Amino acid sequence: MQIVLIEGDGIGPEVTQAACRVIAAAGVQVEWIKGMAGAAAAERYGEPLPEQTLEMIRRYRIALKGPCTTPVGHGYRSVNVRLRQGLDLFASVRPVRTLPGIATPYEQVDLIVVRENTEGLYAGLEHEVTPGVVESVRLITRPAAERIVRFAFDLARQMGRRKVSFCHKADVMRLADGLFLECARRVAEDYPFIQFEEIPIDTLCMELVLEPRRFDVLVMENLFGDVVSDLAAGLVGGLGVVPGANYGTRYAVFEAVHGSAPDIAGRGIANPIAVIRSAALMLEYIGYRQEAQRIEQAVLATLKAGIGLTPDLGGDGTTMTLTEQIIHHLHAGV
Ligand code: NAD
Repeated sequence: MQIVLIEGDGIGPEVTQAACRVIAAAGVQVEWIKGMAGAAAAERYGEPLPEQTLEMIRRYRIALKGPCTTPVGHGYRSVNVRLRQGLDLFASVRPVRTLPGIATPYEQVDLIVVRENTEGLYAGLEHEVTPGVVESVRLITRPAAERIVRFAFDLARQMGRRKVSFCHKADVMRLADGLFLECARRVAEDYPFIQFEEIPIDTLCMELVLEPRRFDVLVMENLFGDVVSDLAAGLVGGLGVVPGANYGTRYAVFEAVHGSAPDIAGRGIANPIAVIRSAALMLEYIGYRQEAQRIEQAVLATLKAGIGLTPDLGGDGTTMTLTEQIIHHLHAGV
């Protein structure tokens, strides 16, 4: 099987290599097709997201991606935003659940954040009206609004989830979020067996911090989703441990949601768990459900055992020791 691998920048090569090792240890044979993106690609091709990389993903359909540095000050638009728009990866999915061995103020959090990935304020529609005055357009269209809400309901149905919460600010952004809300209500009617809830985004943020267990599947537009995804990750231990996936109708890209961590790059102490769990989502997506579950279980067992953990998890281990512990638990079949 051929899958595109974008190692990315900074700690990207370290953590994606760890994920490749774990996939191989789970018995899935993959021929990795390497594509470039980020600062390394900008240096080599003068372009942080070369067309070759997009073409590769169009050809092989699936990619595993490490974090990419967006070069600042050269007028580059974010690699991630362009990747999502270029491949129409309209749905970002971040499953967030409490993990063993990671102390947080919360217990039994188990929710999924679904974010619209192609529109809103990230559509890239900005211009300078006159020096000192800029305008950014917050684009909402009915087809994109309906498809992301439908995606969230279908996901809820497939995963046996009971509730979808639609998050908005329709009382202030009457036209844009008014349209989105109308679309959400319309789509919700097709899923009478799943509870539908409408919640203002500010109320959501407060309630997520007060009582995150009351949420199940959350769906929202791009900017809200960007912020809430990270907030939700913080409830269970942060960006180093939560996986991420971006789905379109033809392609899917699975990625760590943390950045390239230049402060620790090359030191061998990056936590590979986020990419390894993203790789498990990828395996599940392409039909290796058992292998995906074994990897997820091995990660949980490793965190519970607390041996070989990286410094961000409170240990004194390395990327290598943590990866080896995960492989050990994988082989032990926990
Ligand atoms: P960052 O996530 O790279 O780092 C924030 C902090 O978290 C740092 O202290 C870092 O050491 C730590 N950290 C992050 N991932 C870790 C891991 N796996 N293990 C251990 N510690 C980890 O965020 P930043 O510093 O704001 O961004 C750095 C670069 O990454 C920027 O160029 C930014 O554009 C890029 N970025 C890329 C993505 C992506 O490609 N998905 C996401 C966010 C930021």
